[in-house]
Amino acid sequence: MTEKRLRGVVREIGLEREEGRFHSFRVRIGVVLKGERPMDYEEGELLVKRLRRELLGKEVEVEPLIYRCPLCGRDFNSELGLKRHMRRSHREAKL
Ligand SMILES: [Zn+2]
Repeated sequence: MTEKRLRGVVREIGLEREEGRFHSFRVRIGVVLKGERPMDYEEGELLVKRLRRELLGKEVEVEPLIYRCPLCGRDFNSELGLKRHMRRSHREAKL
């Protein structure tokens, strides 16, 4: 098992009815993992098997990652957003 943390983007947040209880709901959050590279169907299946083994039934915490600009302190939702900002706003300051 690796210590590498899983990262992804929250793509879905919704309500799920509790079985047999009409007015009772739970909140469901769907996270799409960020892969380092595209994978084919077989690789994907293997990863899903591994994640099921490692994560199903486990308690997890979900919190947003913040990408902060080291030069001006602005916050971004993604690495891409920060990179874009660095290119546009701090081009001259690039090392
Ligand atoms: Zn900045």
